[in-house]
Amino acid sequence: MTPPECPICANTAGNRLLSVCEKMNGTLEPFDYAQCPACGHLHLAAPPADMSPYYATGYYSFHSRPIPAWRQWLYRWRTAAALGGGGVSGRLMNRLKPPFYAYWLEHTGLRLGHRVLDVGCGAGNLIRILQVAGLQCTGIDPFLPGDSRTPEGAQLRKADLLDIESSWDAILFNHAFEHVPNPREVLAQAARLLEPGGCIVVRIPLSDSFAFFHYGPNWVQWDAPRHLNLFTRNSFTTLAEQCGLKVETTLEDSSRMQFWGSEEYQRNIFHNSKESYGHNPHQTTFSRRQLRDFDRWSRWLNDMGAGDQATFICRKKPLGSALES
Ligand SMILES: [Zn+2]
Repeated sequence: MTPPECPICANTAGNRLLSVCEKMNGTLEPFDYAQCPACGHLHLAAPPADMSPYYATGYYSFHSRPIPAWRQWLYRWRTAAALGGGGVSGRLMNRLKPPFYAYWLEHTGLRLGHRVLDVGCGAGNLIRILQVAGLQCTGIDPFLPGDSRTPEGAQLRKADLLDIESSWDAILFNHAFEHVPNPREVLAQAARLLEPGGCIVVRIPLSDSFAFFHYGPNWVQWDAPRHLNLFTRNSFTTLAEQCGLKVETTLEDSSRMQFWGSEEYQRNIFHNSKESYGHNPHQTTFSRRQLRDFDRWSRWLNDMGAGDQATFICRKKPLGSALES
């Protein structure tokens, strides 16, 4: 197969194919990815016509657990504090132990009552929390069994972003954008659907990272064939510009998973197997010290801008800025 052109920068010179196997379920089915030497972007060269078998019932994002009442209370106060509410007690709790999403939520400028769309929401675990906190949330996912509502009142729709017409204060892609077959069309549509002053939050794995270069085909976030596009900081920024967006903030947020997940793939322990640390953290072969080191190395890589994922906060460029730039 001749390597296809880069879908981001259209480069054709020197593109090469890299072979990698499915490892989440451990089928070891091989897939070819094309890598662009100009912007570093990787994409699945020949995606299967039907991706649904790779999102079968065991796929992690469709598992939802009920949120206990005490946790709902905690989410309500702490999340509200990240949205300009929550009172003194919420702000104090948030300062002592912020919720895991507060660091990017605070950069969105969202306020209580704002409308949020989560694209590729799975079972809606994130929007359930945001709905409890006082945002008006809708989640869409083409792989949902049908339309429904979460117990907290957030809407879930079996839909594609290109079918959505209403406008939003924030559009989230929470580790979903790498699964999208047509990223330019989808990001441009998201930009069209933004309310004035709204933002797009894109959380994605990044292949210009230590973990990609160190672990190669065993890099846990390669996740063939579900990850159709693996961006670099350069290729994502380029795509955002092409869609009339500016990356306002980049939050480097790689975690210990880049190490334990990739180390497991090197040892042929697959992500969905019972021996995986992700399923069975109490019987892991990793020592406490190793896990602490994984955390420490992740923080260090994030400081260096070399971790394997980031959160990008994007806003529309002001009219006329395309002429000035
Ligand atoms: Zn390229």
